[in-house]
Amino acid sequence: MFDTIAAVATPPGEGGIGIIRVSGPEALSIARRVFRGAEGDGWVHRGGYRLVYGHVVEPRTGEVVDEVLLGIMRAPRSYTREDVVEFNCHGGWVAVGRVLELVLRSGARLAEPGEFTRRAFLNGRIDLTQAEAVLDIVRSRSREAMQVAVAQLRGFLGQKVREMREELLGLQAAIEASIDFPEEVAPPGEEELRGRLSRVREEIKALLATAEAGRLYREGLAVVIIGKPNVGKSSLLNRLLREDRALVTEVPGTTRDVVEELARIGGFPVRLADTAGVRETEDVVEKLGIERTRRKVAAADLVLLVLDATREIDDADREAAKLSAGKRRILVVNKIDAAPAGPAKEELAALGGTDPVVYVSALEGTGMAELEKAIGESVMRLPRLEGTAVVSNVRHRAALVRAQECIEDALEAGRSGIPLDVMGIDIYGALEALGEIIGVTGNEEVIERVFADFCVGK
Ligand code: GDP
Repeated sequence: MFDTIAAVATPPGEGGIGIIRVSGPEALSIARRVFRGAEGDGWVHRGGYRLVYGHVVEPRTGEVVDEVLLGIMRAPRSYTREDVVEFNCHGGWVAVGRVLELVLRSGARLAEPGEFTRRAFLNGRIDLTQAEAVLDIVRSRSREAMQVAVAQLRGFLGQKVREMREELLGLQAAIEASIDFPEEVAPPGEEELRGRLSRVREEIKALLATAEAGRLYREGLAVVIIGKPNVGKSSLLNRLLREDRALVTEVPGTTRDVVEELARIGGFPVRLADTAGVRETEDVVEKLGIERTRRKVAAADLVLLVLDATREIDDADREAAKLSAGKRRILVVNKIDAAPAGPAKEELAALGGTDPVVYVSALEGTGMAELEKAIGESVMRLPRLEGTAVVSNVRHRAALVRAQECIEDALEAGRSGIPLDVMGIDIYGALEALGEIIGVTGNEEVIERVFADFCVGK
């Protein structure tokens, strides 16, 4: 059905081992051409899931190229469901390059990015959500993100989607039968229709309810620190990062002028972004800074509004509060080392309503534990995600929303006594939308896009 593909599966450079992965109907015969087992070629006739020790040999000259372990996985019990062999050679540019070259010369084609995983999908071993999970695992930047991806790879989400489709397919069949054979088949009762559609609607709703948590676990909580100039935003950012230095990693920023870093705060992955000071100004450059802050605040999951305990609350503070109104927010009163009392409670309430208030000194590090606790509490109500279906991907979320709309339409059609075949169209729409999630419906483009981000060899 497919040709045989090959690629280096390990990162480029020097390493303990380098792996060349080969998949397709010719995988074993290519291995026979370039590999000499230390104990002869009995391995050719044995089963899969085996490692064979031997050498890769240039077939034309008999020159020994490298000492390797050959991994053999026979169809259909392999990553792609095809015959797969993996050359575990010494991890160096030349070793890996020469083995790949020999494999290609012996009849394999260089794999495209994600082609192994795409074959696993096309050969029916995994659905599209699982293929996406493979990439999510590789890209995970936190334990939680990884947990969500592993659950998705185990198929929890795909399974849920398949169950909902089964229910809708049953309904659709019943409706169609009653339309095609009105004499023999009675249409499904109104009660039954409504009951079954409502059940699917509730399940979609439950899945969508995991989407916010799923996104937060996957990407980390986007925390933005705002406040007028010199309140101590940068000091606070550095303090928050320093508290947990071992786990801080640089994240390539989406916006060039905003520092963004990933940390664990209150046991939760957090993306911290510092922003330009918020202040009305005529300065064009500063204006750009404020625009950026607005955008950053709009995209934030949590805002830390920093206030200066040594200064009166003024219009610039109120401006910053207005900018972040309606967001999940914590008021951080900084510099309590210099002014322990801080602003009056009424003034804080006027500024932030019922927002939690935390008193800190970024300079001395006091109050940081309280601040971390407050950040953790702001996301406490998130559901636990282990071992359940979680929506963490915008593509899945969008498709679920579409399916939900179709079901609402179908229920509405039922209520207003619209003919059954019209309801059938809505049900079909929901089936299409759900099918796109797992990759059984929808166009090639959806699938192209999923695999476009993969690396070669995966
Ligand atoms: P930003 O403009 O909001 O980023 O503020 P910076 O972090 O640059 O701090 C402005 C000034 O306030 C600096 O001189 C800091 O040393 C000082 N500062 C920051 N935090 C504290 C604090 O907790 N206590 C005191 N006394 N000074 C602070």
